[in-house]
Amino acid sequence: MFLPNSFVDALADYKSAYYVIFGVPFDNTSSFRAGSRWAPDAIRQVSANFESYNPTFDIDLVDLPIYDAGNLETSASVNETLQNLYEATKNILRDGKLPIMLGGEHSLTFAMVKACSEFAGEDFGVLILDAHFDLREEYRGFKHNHACVSRNILNQITENIVFIGIRSGPEEEWIFARENNLKYYTADDVEYIGVVEVLKKAIEWLDCKHLYLSLDMDAIDPAYAPGLGTPEPFGMNARDIRTAVRTLAPFTMGLDIVEIAPEYDSGQTAMLGAKVMREFIASHAKSRMNL
Ligand code: MN
Ligand code: MN
Repeated sequence: MFLPNSFVDALADYKSAYYVIFGVPFDNTSSFRAGSRWAPDAIRQVSANFESYNPTFDIDLVDLPIYDAGNLETSASVNETLQNLYEATKNILRDGKLPIMLGGEHSLTFAMVKACSEFAGEDFGVLILDAHFDLREEYRGFKHNHACVSRNILNQITENIVFIGIRSGPEEEWIFARENNLKYYTADDVEYIGVVEVLKKAIEWLDCKHLYLSLDMDAIDPAYAPGLGTPEPFGMNARDIRTAVRTLAPFTMGLDIVEIAPEYDSGQTAMLGAKVMREFIASHAKSRMNL
């Protein structure tokens, strides 16, 4: 069940909408500093600052079928929250719409990816932008800790995953990634190879019609995005993230933006999250118009 709330420029009703935005204010497994539960509303609030017209795509968000479903009701239990999120996402997909989830913490992505993969079938891949691999099998007593999300996706859903922005993790995760031939690009790779080339290689490797895109905001350098649960310096710059989202949006069937913790900055990380989501919608809508 959703509790009402509204994103600026989300003017459509559910029935006529194609883009369905919703928040999941859940951060109960967050390890270092919690607070991503406040992100969905912070993102909505700062979005009021932006013009609805996007000059890059020559598109006005007020003309697009965008609906804000509000925030998903969460429980203290991660498993119950994931189950609710999985069902809500399935319903949105079944209604022929594109789900956009504002976290909340990264553990939530598992439920979104599960619903999307079941809907997409075999021709499916996942692209994760993150500073961290999140490959732990278990962390602090939780199998669905946010530090385990990629491992759970790999084990239970799909191995067709590319990681971009990686730069932190215990030695075992790097060994695991190499031994299992995981496809990943570090933030340094992005710096040296260039984001356009990295994206080209990632898309070729994934080779799928239906993509799920997960943006853990700590992929971005904390200079641009300081309001995070687990900030990690030497990250990707904000422009490269925008390029990634603009490039991938046309192939994407589901998106999440997670791990923003608004109380650790002056609103700039939520602002970046809001802007990135708007770029995603504009790019995706433009590609639909060109079909
Ligand atoms: Mn993560
Ligand atoms: Mn992370």
